[in-house]
Amino acid sequence: MHAPFPPNHGPGTKDQGPVDPISLPLHDQFMHFTLTPEQLAFQQAARRFARETVAPLAAAIDERDEFPADLVKAAGARGLMGVTIPTAWGGAGRDYVSYALALEEIARASATLAVILVVNNSLVSEPLLRFGSEDQKRTWLPRLASGERVGAFALSEEDAGTDAANQQTAAASLPGGGFRLTGRKTWVTCAAAADLVLVFAGEAGQTGKRAVSAFLVPMNARGVVRGARNESMGVRGLGGIDLELADVDVGADALVGARGAGFEMARWAFEGARIGIAAQAIGIGQVAFDEARAHAKRRHTFGKPIATYEAIQFMLADSATELDAARMLTLKAASTKDAQDQCGVEAAMAKLYASEAATHATDRAMQILASAGYRRGSILERLYRDVRAAEIYPGTSEVQRMIISGAVLRK
Ligand SMILES: Cc1cc2nc3c(=O)[nH]c(=O)nc-3n(C[C@H](O)[C@H](O)[C@H](O)COP(=O)(O)OP(=O)(O)OC[C@H]3O[C@@H](n4cnc5c(N)ncnc54)[C@H](O)[C@@H]3O)c2cc1C
Repeated sequence: MHAPFPPNHGPGTKDQGPVDPISLPLHDQFMHFTLTPEQLAFQQAARRFARETVAPLAAAIDERDEFPADLVKAAGARGLMGVTIPTAWGGAGRDYVSYALALEEIARASATLAVILVVNNSLVSEPLLRFGSEDQKRTWLPRLASGERVGAFALSEEDAGTDAANQQTAAASLPGGGFRLTGRKTWVTCAAAADLVLVFAGEAGQTGKRAVSAFLVPMNARGVVRGARNESMGVRGLGGIDLELADVDVGADALVGARGAGFEMARWAFEGARIGIAAQAIGIGQVAFDEARAHAKRRHTFGKPIATYEAIQFMLADSATELDAARMLTLKAASTKDAQDQCGVEAAMAKLYASEAATHATDRAMQILASAGYRRGSILERLYRDVRAAEIYPGTSEVQRMIISGAVLRK
């Protein structure tokens, strides 16, 4: 119980009674800030891999815009393709906090590899573990979680981005069981190199969230056609393409979970993916901050390092504060996911805040490096292009605000 607040006589509140500034719920769960030895060890291993193996290749991945297949295999060998998948299913058997810590480390070296890991972990392997049949898990999970095979997630279409339930891809029932999938997907990350794709499709002739089902489709199935590459400004090398489903016939055993449960499955998977992308954004923002701090100490104007000017100091102070706050929100969301199955609001807050904090930090770093950052081929130039997508996928900042405001207003 807290003491009553004095009446607030500010503008607009006269007739509404006192305003209680503590209007948000008091949480009964508090996160532990101390990492366990296992979490620290996983973070350290990811850091070593990121520095020694990933970082030297990052510029080339960006330059060539090529899916880094060998690097993905190497990440798989270190448990990074199935971080939270139990060891019995071929994963690393770690918790979500470890996953978030590792993704930040990977993103510091390559934002692209971090996104590939998020897709395979949060958008394919985890829903398969949570909703898949024993047969589906046995066939695919150990191979996905070990990185032997790569998964892709095909929800978006030309007219189904934010409005994801507006699926034009149709799943028609075949006589004798099974389904015929017909349609076109876009922005299917990893699909250029993937072995398996989780396809979302609407029940033929029906619309809305409850009409959407999810299907496991091998990329070599008849009628699956790899289409145009999705040329992107940043996070290049994702292997993102359009995917045509030209009457792809699959058995009844391709359906994941219940019929009509696909939208709910995607919503659940996005909670994990948003924690992953929050961590990815922090990794990018942190490198930008580190570059800016080093440059500020090195670069002299008017006979002094620019780090001695308050204008520069305050930019660094704001970035350091925002990145730290973003990290705390992300670890809170991850620990909530570890504690319970649902973490929609926590994940939305983490993704919203971290993606914007990282964008701001990268933008400030560009200002501090000035022409040295703007030069084509500089690390900062790549980070500046990479960071922006975190405000768009998976689900834009507007979508995260809708989720958060919806929860706040339900109280
Ligand atoms: C690099 C990259 C990789 C991707 N990988 C995948 C993938 O692997 N699989 C996949 O399925 N998809 C993927 N996507 C697609 C991504 O999920 C969508 O781009 C995203 O959901 C936004 O959809 P949209 O681009 O169609 O924007 P739109 O839905 O057209 O939205 C346009 C703008 O309008 C705003 N808006 C829309 N509706 C509302 C509303 N009701 N209220 C307020 N504002 C609104 C949006 O926030 C946005 O600012 C990827 C995208 C990118 C850029």
